[in-house]
Amino acid sequence: MHQTCERYEIFDNSRIAIVIVDSDRIVTFANQGAQDLLANKVDIGRQLGVHLPNDDKQFFSSSFQPNEISGQPIYYCAIAVVDNGEQHFLIYLHPFNMKLSGTEHLPFLAQHDPLTGLPNRNQFIKRLQRHCSSDACEKTLTAVVFIDLDGFKAINDSLGHEMGDKLLQVVAGRIRNQLRNSDTLTRLSGDEFLIILTGLEARQDAATVTQRILDDLARPYKIDSTDLYITASAGLTYCQDRTARAEIMIQQADIAMFEAKRAGRNTFQWFDKALNDEVNRALLIRNTVQKGLDKQQFHLVYQPQICLEAETVCGIEALVRWRHPDIDGLSPAEFIPILESSGQIIPLSYWIMRQAFSDWHKIKPYLAEGARVSVNVSTVHISRSDFIEQLERVMLETNIKPSDIKLEITESMMLRNAQTAVATLDKLADKGIAIALDDFGTGFSNLRYLTQMPISDVKLDRSFIRDIDTHKANQAIVRGITSMSHELGLKIVAEGVETLSEKAEVKKLQADIMQGYLEATPLRFEPLIEFLTKRHQ
Ligand SMILES: [Mg+2]
Repeated sequence: MHQTCERYEIFDNSRIAIVIVDSDRIVTFANQGAQDLLANKVDIGRQLGVHLPNDDKQFFSSSFQPNEISGQPIYYCAIAVVDNGEQHFLIYLHPFNMKLSGTEHLPFLAQHDPLTGLPNRNQFIKRLQRHCSSDACEKTLTAVVFIDLDGFKAINDSLGHEMGDKLLQVVAGRIRNQLRNSDTLTRLSGDEFLIILTGLEARQDAATVTQRILDDLARPYKIDSTDLYITASAGLTYCQDRTARAEIMIQQADIAMFEAKRAGRNTFQWFDKALNDEVNRALLIRNTVQKGLDKQQFHLVYQPQICLEAETVCGIEALVRWRHPDIDGLSPAEFIPILESSGQIIPLSYWIMRQAFSDWHKIKPYLAEGARVSVNVSTVHISRSDFIEQLERVMLETNIKPSDIKLEITESMMLRNAQTAVATLDKLADKGIAIALDDFGTGFSNLRYLTQMPISDVKLDRSFIRDIDTHKANQAIVRGITSMSHELGLKIVAEGVETLSEKAEVKKLQADIMQGYLEATPLRFEPLIEFLTKRHQ
């Protein structure tokens, strides 16, 4: 490629900055324009001083990247070229220090900020409005982040506007680097930046990205050999429905940013006060799990499962509780989803298994023949490639047999990756571990799963069982699922049975097992042994 360029003197004398890189992003050619732009610091055989994304999709969407040599941001655009059978990429580079001079009314400048090359406010509002009113906004989350530098005016006043402008360019580059190409960044005015984050799964994701940006902006700067330090404050809001208006969202994010300034700067706040509390609570939960495990704040309770035919205790389900020192009445329904999203459910899950399997040896003698201990396993956990290996290790340590274990899973596992899920479950079933499908009826409830998965029990969600004695429609649903499950050789567990007439009804509808407050609440180890002893007499 280098030779081809030389032979034809292509690009060589062009004032446009052009470099050619190979498939490893190593420079194989750089013309004079590129040498001028990058202060003669382009070395053949080395990486370019401008960051080039490794991911192909991002690499080819021309974008704005920080230039690690001068700090000045640079736009680049990549084109793939095959020369002599080899893959090369032609990179066109363009600086963004353009000042409008009256003769340069390029269409580009009408839509972009001349200092940073970012889309301008008009572009930003158009894009935000489009996102808010699109279908995608209903399925995923769109958030707006307002960023304002802390103490920028002092830098401008003491070191001059030129230095201030350079700092803003580097700041823009750092923010841009933390975003995906699908996100939009704009400079509103002065030291204010606005971001649209799209396609988020949870509000927590917007908080995570914002925190990352604030951390990156707080790193030291070196501009024209001057060391600078600056932090930023941010405000967040999100699109609540399709009627949301772009200007209103920007105002909300702005108000939240002021709250962040008031809260001491170098931090972020949500516009929504309740949301702030929620996010802070989630952060507290995430930050205290390990301590909770170390300080034995977790304990298990066991809920007996009663065989409706024989009236015997034919199993127990282990449930985790957390006595949190700072949050009163913290429920598993709140902390489990938070720990699932951060992956911290995994160490907790092993702790639960280890505890339940150790306790099991003292509980088993009181239960009916063939009884098992049920443990809930999160989809995040069971989908891990080392799940079976780790489970076997815990089984070995606690000396429990596969025929004593039942794992409760939810159908979300199938939604993630059906093939791998079935393969994992098959392996577990082959070892003799039973699988129960939990919360059936609350989610997608695809009946086909019942035939595809090697499950032994279907646990009907409590929402079907509540008032089932009078609720005709639920009776019909339960009757249908039960008869189909029986045909497939599966047992039906009715959850949340609280009254005698509900118990009579589920028995009439041919459910096999019941679980619920009527017979037994979830009990700690000692009360459970007491309960079982009494029942055994
Ligand atoms: Mg369960």
